[in-house]
Amino acid sequence: MTKDLIDGAGEFKRYHYEGDNDLMSDLVKLGQNPKYFIISCIDSRCNPGTIFRAPPGSFFAHKAMGAIVRPYKQGTALAAALQFALNYNKVETVIVLGHTNCGAVKALAESLKDPEITSFISVAKQALEKAKSCCNNPDELLARTEKETILASTENLKNYPSVTKALEEKRIDVKSWLFDMNTGDLLEHNASTDQFEIKTTQTQKEDSRKNA
Ligand SMILES: [Zn+2]
Repeated sequence: MTKDLIDGAGEFKRYHYEGDNDLMSDLVKLGQNPKYFIISCIDSRCNPGTIFRAPPGSFFAHKAMGAIVRPYKQGTALAAALQFALNYNKVETVIVLGHTNCGAVKALAESLKDPEITSFISVAKQALEKAKSCCNNPDELLARTEKETILASTENLKNYPSVTKALEEKRIDVKSWLFDMNTGDLLEHNASTDQFEIKTTQTQKEDSRKNA
């Protein structure tokens, strides 16, 4: 049942341990020094390791439904991970990476009746209410809620003590990103225009063909 994963692990080992590639042995010997901390959805179609084609050691990863960052509370998995990444490592950028066609946002918009799930995602209700004030069409409402949820999560993120401190000391940037699953584009929120703008570059497209 898990043959595909085991085969993938074999391929990883062959590439990173049995060839001329020293990256993994250097990372093990010298330790990691990731530049990024990425908070993404649990969705299997937008795994940052897959969509950024990033080599090992590139980023810390935290996953939560809808890439939702709840308001700060001591002792949560995210608070501890950020503390470790920002105070004991040299992370330069923290990214909230949401995506289109997000099941968590759909569940929120459709008022799913499952307390185990809604008790977590309901924190994004304000994002839904904000989206409702400008969109009537259900597809537009979902798309707007996805964006508003990313922005609400980014604001919550800035109130985590480790993030607040790093921002005050100008050690990090915080970014709000959206992966458009329909087009494959990566969008970034531009605070001055309050729009999500496409960031995907031609070079990345060429690289992905080269590495395919
Ligand atoms: Zn999602």
